[in-house]
Amino acid sequence: MVQERLNDTTAANGSSHRPARGSSTRAVHGGTPRRKAFSALTTPIVQTATYTFRDTQDLMEYMERKTWGDGDDREEYGRYGNPTVAAVERKLAALDGGEDAVLYASGMNAVTSLLLSVLSAGGHIVMTDDCYRRTRQFCLTFLQRFGIETSVVPMGDYAALEAAIIPKKTRFIISESPTNPYLRVANLERIAALGKKYRALTVIDSTFATPVNQRPLEWGIDFVVHSATKYLSGHNDLLAGVVVGRADRIKALRDARGVLGGVVDPQNAYLLERGVKTLAVRVKQQNQSALAVARFLEAHPRIERVWYPGLPSHPDHDTAAAQMSGFGGVVSFEVAGDLQATARFIDHLRIPYIAPSLGGVESLIEQPALMSYYEKTSEERLALGIKDNLVRFAIGIEDTEDILNDLDQALAAV
Ligand SMILES: *Cc1c(COP(=O)(O)O)cnc(C)c1O
Repeated sequence: MVQERLNDTTAANGSSHRPARGSSTRAVHGGTPRRKAFSALTTPIVQTATYTFRDTQDLMEYMERKTWGDGDDREEYGRYGNPTVAAVERKLAALDGGEDAVLYASGMNAVTSLLLSVLSAGGHIVMTDDCYRRTRQFCLTFLQRFGIETSVVPMGDYAALEAAIIPKKTRFIISESPTNPYLRVANLERIAALGKKYRALTVIDSTFATPVNQRPLEWGIDFVVHSATKYLSGHNDLLAGVVVGRADRIKALRDARGVLGGVVDPQNAYLLERGVKTLAVRVKQQNQSALAVARFLEAHPRIERVWYPGLPSHPDHDTAAAQMSGFGGVVSFEVAGDLQATARFIDHLRIPYIAPSLGGVESLIEQPALMSYYEKTSEERLALGIKDNLVRFAIGIEDTEDILNDLDQALAAV
């Protein structure tokens, strides 16, 4: 039956005998039961901090089931679970082709909770560079205080990555893909193979790709992390994060979340699920605009260099073409000019807002030298790979033609 097929998450990775569904059908129906409470079409927002028991007998039966049974049939307290949160977790698991997912209060909360839940003193992490600044800061400063060391290796150097692994000590291999701001793409198969060889857990921060463009679990990666603040919610109006993976591992993370406390409130979970339903429609539009923008900029005399994995000039184009179905909505580029000329170009743009973040319906633009790295000198920034004339353009869902025209007039003004 068509209805059954739409709700069957096992078909999500295309491994079942049933035809794999398209990403937009998955975004709308994936992981979502046909029947919901009150026969509502949408997921009800269960706005409660706690859950009640009819009487002591009811409480004791619940405790017995919880202690000895398999699977809870109800929630106990808001930090341990919420039906609206659980609904969006099931949808995000289905989209990434994972068994389960756990939702957190922000993307950073997802990253830090995952690492804190698994690591012990004496543990070791290998991480690729060109990585989200706060993830790197958490590993290199916070975790180091607890006796956990992190080795940072150059993105794309798999010999260096393997050499950095300390057998029996390295618990995690962490990479983003694509990365920020250079859109470097990790070879997921190679990272997964190194994880298996050395019994280290592999983590891919797939925020920039979304499950529409890339599904790392299908390449053998253990955990996928997203800042759901970005494309998944898609409207620049909430913060959330998610980790997707094998059911037993996600259950352990959910138990740890009950201790660490990084829960999302039900209202935000509802907004996230609402946003996810249009994920594929938005991302396909963003992919298409970004490719057009990248090609336009690469051909423009006032642009020195463009970083976009969809361009053959990008160092990881072949890897991206092999493992992604779209190249994403972020384009980074270097303006032919200094810090001030680049800022003038940005100030002449009429469509994008100047703001950090990405992945929403509104285009956002930033000059990393002045946004994320303002307090550093030009030399310090260069050492981190951030040039003064670098621009990160996170494309929204405005019409492609309008975005191109806007870039054209602003470049003419530089
Ligand atoms: C934004 C972002 C994060 C952090 O997510 P928050 O929701 O802002 O906490 C982590 N990784 C990447 C790649 C991001 O873009």
